[in-house]
Amino acid sequence: MISFNCPPYVGKELDYIKQAVEAHKICGDGEFTKKCNEWMEKRFGAQKVLLTTSGTTALDMAALLCDIKPGDEVILPSFTFSSTATSFVLAGATLVFVDIRPDTMNIDERKIEAAITDKTKVIVPVHYAGVACEMDTIMAIAKKHNLLVVEDAAQGVMSEYKGRALGTIGDFGCYSFHETKNYSMGEGGALVINHEKYNERAEILREKGTNRSKFFRGQVDKYTWVDFGDSYLPSELNAAYLWAQLNEADKINLDRIGTWNKYYEGLKPLADKGLFEIPTVPEECKHNAHMFYIKCRDLSERTELISFLKEHNVNSVFHYIPLHSAPAGLKYGRFHGVDEYTTQESEKLVRLPMYYGLNEVDCEQVIKSVIEFFK
Ligand SMILES: *Cc1c(COP(=O)(O)O)cnc(C)c1O
Repeated sequence: MISFNCPPYVGKELDYIKQAVEAHKICGDGEFTKKCNEWMEKRFGAQKVLLTTSGTTALDMAALLCDIKPGDEVILPSFTFSSTATSFVLAGATLVFVDIRPDTMNIDERKIEAAITDKTKVIVPVHYAGVACEMDTIMAIAKKHNLLVVEDAAQGVMSEYKGRALGTIGDFGCYSFHETKNYSMGEGGALVINHEKYNERAEILREKGTNRSKFFRGQVDKYTWVDFGDSYLPSELNAAYLWAQLNEADKINLDRIGTWNKYYEGLKPLADKGLFEIPTVPEECKHNAHMFYIKCRDLSERTELISFLKEHNVNSVFHYIPLHSAPAGLKYGRFHGVDEYTTQESEKLVRLPMYYGLNEVDCEQVIKSVIEFFK
């Protein structure tokens, strides 16, 4: 069976974990955490990056730093993972879902402005499949209406928009290092902070409401409880695993791009004939091959394709059930305008196996099986 996902492993992970164990430093914010934070700051040109326990808790932190008051509204796509929404619900926001574009499956930037009210506080673009949202337009709308922008870049680590790393364009960016993402630490994530003024509050939030980070830097002589907070520090053991991956980030990226390109070339002839759709990557976007998906004609064709692939030893998956039609989405939000594409396009989408180290033979087997189905 060709798996849909296999967590990345490059070889040095256990050495680094052993180093952390032998240094008797396994809690948060040790050497490996610092190395990971600094690597991302440098590589992505970010003002500050803080490792977190997950992509979800990075979103939680961003939502809290936006200082949402009860009744404040947050604009986001409905075609996304629950984390994007639930973090803002936790912070007290009301959700306003906006339709997606059928080409990239990203929030339709042309439909955002109509959803803005005097309660709107934040826009949350989700860079689906590591392909950037139309950020120039979104940032201009945010500026005009004095809104904050939190990029859900969980899938967008190492992707770019007009030469800028995803996560560094809005006010905050959120990465995920879950085992299904391009770079992993088992469970983990990172918060990118793009304005210095949030740094101190972010450190306090992450350290259980204390100013311990300041204490460790020698800026205060004792640390104490200064505000509400939570525990968002990942263990050094997880950071050590991630450090091995970041050191090989280009290798992992190239490997995934290779697989993605094989799918693209192999399936393009049938896509050109109109049998199904393959992903669109706008010219200004450099993607990270997080995902390769195809879009069938409709839900029943997709269901048949998934079971056909399974019979041919290929695991494929679909997602997401649009949030606005999910029980919690109905409770915490509303869809603004007409659902032209969100439901319809989400029902067509199938994700093909994609992971670091997916071998050529398996990749060709997947392509062959897809072609056979559409014959
Ligand atoms: C994976 C993902 C998250 C959540 O990340 P975790 O690390 O699993 O908490 C949030 N948003 C999107 C779009 C994701 O794909």
